[in-house]
Amino acid sequence: MAETSETLLLLAPLRGVLLPLAAVPDPVFAEGLFGEGVAIDPLGDTLVAPCDGVVLHLAATGHALTLQAPCGAQVLLHVGIDTVSLRGEGFAPCVAQGTVVRQGDPLIRFDADRVARQARSLVTVMAVAHGIGFAVADRTDAGLAEAGRTVVLRVRAAGPAQAATPAPQADVPDVPNVTPAATLRRTLTLACAGGLHARPAARARAAMHGLDATVTLHYGGRQASLASLVALLALSADEGATVELAASGRDAGAALDAVARELQRTDAGEAHAVFPVGAAPAAAAPDGELPPGCIAGVAAAPGIAIGPLHWWRDAAPEPDPAGQGVAAERAALRAALAAVDAQLARDSAAASARQDPAGAGIFAMHRALLEDPALRAAADALVDAGNSAGFAWREATRAEAATLSAMADRRAADRAADVLDLGKRVLRVLAGNHGGAERAAGAAAGLPPADGGQPVVLAADEFTPSDLAGLERSRVAALAMVRGGPTSHAAILARQAGIPCLVALGSALERLPDGTPVIADGDRARLQANPDQALLAAAASSARLRAHQRQAELRAAHAPAGTRDGVHIEVAANIGSVDDARQAVAHGADAVGLLRTELLFLHGAAAPTVADHTASCQAVVDALDGRSAIVRTLDIGGDKEAAWLRLPAEDNPALGLRGVRLAQACPQLLDDQLRGLLAVRTQAPLRILLPMVSEVGELLHWRARIRTLAAEAGADAGIEVGVMIEVPAAALLAGQLAEHADFFSIGTNDLTQYTLAMDRCQPELAARMDGLHPAVLRLIAATTEGAACHGRWVGVCGALAGDPLAVPVLLGLGVTELSVDAGLVPATKARVRTLAHADCRQRAAGLLRLPSAAAVRDACRQYWPA
Ligand code: PEP
Ligand code: MG
Repeated sequence: MAETSETLLLLAPLRGVLLPLAAVPDPVFAEGLFGEGVAIDPLGDTLVAPCDGVVLHLAATGHALTLQAPCGAQVLLHVGIDTVSLRGEGFAPCVAQGTVVRQGDPLIRFDADRVARQARSLVTVMAVAHGIGFAVADRTDAGLAEAGRTVVLRVRAAGPAQAATPAPQADVPDVPNVTPAATLRRTLTLACAGGLHARPAARARAAMHGLDATVTLHYGGRQASLASLVALLALSADEGATVELAASGRDAGAALDAVARELQRTDAGEAHAVFPVGAAPAAAAPDGELPPGCIAGVAAAPGIAIGPLHWWRDAAPEPDPAGQGVAAERAALRAALAAVDAQLARDSAAASARQDPAGAGIFAMHRALLEDPALRAAADALVDAGNSAGFAWREATRAEAATLSAMADRRAADRAADVLDLGKRVLRVLAGNHGGAERAAGAAAGLPPADGGQPVVLAADEFTPSDLAGLERSRVAALAMVRGGPTSHAAILARQAGIPCLVALGSALERLPDGTPVIADGDRARLQANPDQALLAAAASSARLRAHQRQAELRAAHAPAGTRDGVHIEVAANIGSVDDARQAVAHGADAVGLLRTELLFLHGAAAPTVADHTASCQAVVDALDGRSAIVRTLDIGGDKEAAWLRLPAEDNPALGLRGVRLAQACPQLLDDQLRGLLAVRTQAPLRILLPMVSEVGELLHWRARIRTLAAEAGADAGIEVGVMIEVPAAALLAGQLAEHADFFSIGTNDLTQYTLAMDRCQPELAARMDGLHPAVLRLIAATTEGAACHGRWVGVCGALAGDPLAVPVLLGLGVTELSVDAGLVPATKARVRTLAHADCRQRAAGLLRLPSAAAVRDACRQYWPA
């Protein structure tokens, strides 16, 4: 032992920025499966011995080795993440198995550039192996380390050898003899990547939906009901674990099959969604000594921002402990839970609508947690004991979160943050229902007053998804977190929103007061406090370069867009709220190409009335400053659920009662909306768009209904009616539909889903759900041809319209209107202006003959580089 007879000091094996193991973008290391330790984002290219020892094992690929210290401790050194796949390329070991080394001796040299280009990350791990009687007593996992000089780990003997993995706590004992005779059992191996973490657990639970069965999962001497996500996570069952399912009830067999299928999915895409290579930038290595005031963290979303630091005040209101009667408090809790469920449904639907399956999945998982029977039972018990709904819910969520955080499994600890987040959401709703004063101090209170001041770098210990769901993007320049990881849900949402984000900045961030000027550099994983003029100038120039192009686009965005050869293309915005309408105007949208009216009402407590429809659409139209609007009738169903609309459960909701088909079950709903829309006062055309039409009869029916309702109300019966082309049948019948429709708007999100038979909310299929698939393009071509027969125009309002590679293809196929998220309007107009329509037309036809979406994308890159 180097320091005392009991302590082994391990020096940094590389020069670089120290990081906590939890920040490593690989669950195997981050969750300590290899042992406790530290990570280093390298600034050097030679791995040196952290202590004297003998090389016990050297990987054949030269990227990792195990060193045994004289005291017996085994130290694993692993250069980069997924570097085994390089098969030795770029690595030159300086030692062999059995070599005796001294502290500081070179072990492996590597070509940092080459490895960084080919591997997922260069982050290097040093960990002390579990189970041989040594434990890390102290560590330094922040700041800059010098190879062979900085002490980073102090290792102590931990008594007699421990088991390689801790024995499971028997807090939920398995009870083998109590299951009834009719119980069916099945043993299986967990195939889901990363084990039974939140998403597979949520999917397994969801697989039982509608089945009359009770299923328990038994693992490691413990059991959990499939009904309780929290209990399932608490089992900490890893990938490859052998588990037993026990099912009883009328549909026990079907439930066993469904759950087993979920647990045996290999989940290739799941791992991709959690650690999206390239989408989640790994910690970037600073290229020199850290200057004073500079804090190294981990980059979670790229971009540079300068602004005053502002601490997010977590404004979950303090509940009064005393209840006002059990019945009243129970009712208040039920109502608040229903309202939060509706909020989450809306957030999830909004995420799906903007083609963000990861975001949608997060909110969907929160909905599953919210239903957790264990959580609800704990809160009910506290209400029954005389506590208020808010107090009961807060205590129940805190207790549940404490259980999860105490678990060694890092994923369970992440779920603790999710449970606490739900605690906050419900408290905010309860506070709102009890008078509104605390509600006003809710989501907005985390920001400084909106006085038009400089956007802030918003700091928190760790943001939660609900913190970010309602954030005013224009007031936040960047996000900075004391803790958190690049794959946390908040980080995923920050990337989606395009907000630079730094995580794991540590206690150095905590010491910075409100108002400290900072540079948040999400490209290089640094936060610079109190920057001097030179640093400010350099950061400002980088930010300027990034912003330059965007500003130029924005400046030109208010002019109409046409191709180089003079074909006018309308660039409109997709919106779902009055705020979106204002954004559309600010970003130069020519019109609104799609108002998703369901987003205005998903979160309501009851079905919208005629007056509600008129009022909310009027507010949107008024915000548009004379621009025309295409208003789509309610498209509830599929992945968009409204709490106030209880529809019969469907096995395949995406193929069921959604869009205009909803009228089959609730005809009043659409009549009310149409009456409401016909009463809106407008300066520019308001057009009605019908979603999910699949046959001409539907269009004829609704056109007739609109005429009747308009006549009854004395409104304009000539209002234009268009059809969403989002079902292959509609594309193929475009000629017949065009005879009776005024225009078409192609919903490429659904058209792609239904053409490729790939669920648009399925993260595993997200990479293959490409609207540039030649089959989808053929349907688009069929639509424009059908429309042309009757002189109708065709727009695209699916996400494909905002894809720069797709824009020339769509124009080439005859589309004349592109409707995109407001923020994309300037770039889309700029793209249109670079193109020649004749060239697009000529080349698009050839793309239809290509074999795959990838081939189309390749060709587009060559023809029309973005
Ligand atoms: C679409 O399907 O492409 C579309 C625009 O509609 P939504 O995304 O709302 O289903
Ligand atoms: Mg659609």
